Amino acid sequence: MPLYEYYCSDCQAKFELLVSHQHADGVVCMKCQSEKVRRLLSVFASQRGSSEDSSYNDMAPSMGGGSCGCGGGGCGCH
Ligand SMILES: [Zn+2]
Repeated sequence: MPLYEYYCSDCQAKFELLVSHQHADGVVCMKCQSEKVRRLLSVFASQRGSSEDSSYNDMAPSMGGGSCGCGGGGCGCH
């Protein structure tokens, strides 16, 4: 399962979770259980920093359609 980093807009906590695509939309904050969490770019992508274009291209195939948040196929973007 992929590792995602989340940010809670209620308590400003950042945390990482291993989640499947099916559960990616049901994540709550580990500290305050708020549902106001945002999924950040992957740890790998954020560490690259200055090379956003190349990192995006590298990520796209391995994301398997999950980059749009639809979980694959549901949104017609693939
Ligand atoms: Zn929180």
